[in-house]
Amino acid sequence: MGRPAPHADYDVIVVGAGPAGCAAAAALAQEAPQLSVLVVDRADFPRDKPCGDGIAHEVTQVLSDLDFDVERVFDGAAEIGELALRSPSGVQVRRQMRHRVHVAPRRIFDARLVDEVRRCGIEVRRHSARTVEVTADGVRLDSLRARVVIGADGAESVVRRAAARPRPGRVALAIRGYAPELPELAGAQYITMTDRHWPAYAWSFPIGDGRANVGYGELLGDRPLSRADLIAGMHGLMPGLATPSDLRAHRLPLSSGRPPIPDGPVLLAGDAQSMINPFTGEGIFYAVVSGELAGRAAAQALTGGGNPGLLYRAATCRRLGRHLRHTSALARLGGWPALVDAGLRAGRADQRAFDDLVRFGLADGLLTPRLLSRLRFRG
Ligand SMILES: Cc1cc2nc3c(=O)[nH]c(=O)nc-3n(C[C@H](O)[C@H](O)[C@H](O)COP(=O)(O)OP(=O)(O)OC[C@H]3O[C@@H](n4cnc5c(N)ncnc54)[C@H](O)[C@@H]3O)c2cc1C
Repeated sequence: MGRPAPHADYDVIVVGAGPAGCAAAAALAQEAPQLSVLVVDRADFPRDKPCGDGIAHEVTQVLSDLDFDVERVFDGAAEIGELALRSPSGVQVRRQMRHRVHVAPRRIFDARLVDEVRRCGIEVRRHSARTVEVTADGVRLDSLRARVVIGADGAESVVRRAAARPRPGRVALAIRGYAPELPELAGAQYITMTDRHWPAYAWSFPIGDGRANVGYGELLGDRPLSRADLIAGMHGLMPGLATPSDLRAHRLPLSSGRPPIPDGPVLLAGDAQSMINPFTGEGIFYAVVSGELAGRAAAQALTGGGNPGLLYRAATCRRLGRHLRHTSALARLGGWPALVDAGLRAGRADQRAFDDLVRFGLADGLLTPRLLSRLRFRG
């Protein structure tokens, strides 16, 4: 890595070494290897992160384009081909997905991403960020100075708060643990929804050793939501489930309530920018894509000139704009469980409509004419 401008310790500091921060660092290394980049994380790796551990097929493509050794990253991870969905009123569909997905415990997956970032020659250091201040010539992060800071520090982002960015508008809360797979769900990813406290759902994602990552989440609203409520929600939707180990809850800032991306030298990516799919809780695809876009925008601004925030906003709009508009529009209608019923009936009737549903829920899919034309409100 090169030398930063004289007034800065680093050209770019990335806060957080989860999927968003690692993708940002890899994009910087690819786009402008001459820049000096530091990644800080408050944790040492390996570390746990409450998650369903489900990793969409499209994540592999993004990581591969960023020169991650994906064979190594996913070595030993479960590969799942089948997805079963159940709507609030009991409409069910169970089909093969077009592409297999991985289920990889985050303790392993994230540590391997960090290894890959280090392999690019980027320093990853343990440090808990506390204060962020935009100055005349860059950003001050605690006692360090950088020309650009990328906040990839998750749902409770300190960078977001310290940079006085708006809070996310819509937030869910979910709990996850590990339990023996239910025999009827063996080998399949399963998501089951309920209209009690809608939108709310439980999941079971097999991790390949006879156990599954299981969990339950719902949108935070007026009702106070306790750990006991979450556990009861999970068992209510998956009767017969044994008591899971390692239960941990965490917030999910949903993309349907994401704040706008402002101009300036502080960029937010992943959960810090509220990039979680409001229908499925998928956030790893958005994290690696937004991290990549933030890293490339920072590199372009520092090497070619321009405002990092403006470049990042434009790139996000090009890459994900249509998809995010479709998910947000549907989230506004999503209080209407009949629409979910209609979508699952479409997927049950037609494999390609099912494929469109999966891509819409797990990556960057759109409400395609094919999917819309197959919606069935009865039957
Ligand atoms: C229960 C649950 C289930 C989920 N299931 C799925 C799923 O199956 N599939 C899916 O795709 N998504 C899922 N998600 C969403 C997914 O976990 C997140 O969207 C994803 O982890 C976001 O990645 P990130 O890099 O933005 O943030 P994170 O993965 O949260 O990483 C942030 C990093 O920042 C570090 N950090 C935080 N604060 C500081 C600080 N002050 N200073 C320095 N470092 C800091 C943390 O230690 C962490 O390493 C789930 C979420 C929850 C809560």
